[in-house]
Amino acid sequence: MGPQGAGKGTQAALLAERLGVPAISTGDIFRANIKGGTELGRLVQEYTAKGDLVPDSVTNDMVRDRLGQADAADGFILDGYPRNAAQVTELDGILADLGVRLDAVLELTADRDELLGRLRKRAEIEGREDDTEDAIARRLDIYAEQTAPLTGAYSERGLLVRVDGIGSVEDVAERVAGALAGPRG
Ligand code: AMP
Repeated sequence: MGPQGAGKGTQAALLAERLGVPAISTGDIFRANIKGGTELGRLVQEYTAKGDLVPDSVTNDMVRDRLGQADAADGFILDGYPRNAAQVTELDGILADLGVRLDAVLELTADRDELLGRLRKRAEIEGREDDTEDAIARRLDIYAEQTAPLTGAYSERGLLVRVDGIGSVEDVAERVAGALAGPRG
């Protein structure tokens, strides 16, 4: 977990490689479908472009399907899901049905100024449709309102690991590895 621009995608990919499990990013799956012109892509485009959350009915089914695929049988890293309280409940159900449990919930932290700076830079480099000023502000607001509070529930379950996301990619990756080796709370 962590706000847009905290480095979730980058760190999830590095960690996935280190652990030999797939990194599953709901945002990446949506973007690939939009690019490929699929039915799912057409369905979600109006939401992702504005920075709004895609409806839970669509997102939850997609995650259930993805986590049930063979390459996720020995573990996975989820990036960008769950993002609201209903998705936390849905994920609990999906995992129970699959007979697996979360080992940890990693939260990458960064302050809003740092995030805005990184997202504006990414906008110049990648040209993502939702890296406009309006959509960036909207996504950070939704994160603060709906997603950030979820870490409390995972902390109560003893799963939360919080890592400072400010610094070089390598430094943060080392912090992540160290934090996951230590106690959770
Ligand atoms: P991200 O790359 O994680 O920032 O996701 C890009 C966009 O995909 C978000 O702004 C949402 O529109 C959509 N999205 C990704 N994950 C979710 C999710 N768990 N629930 C709803 N919408 C999502």
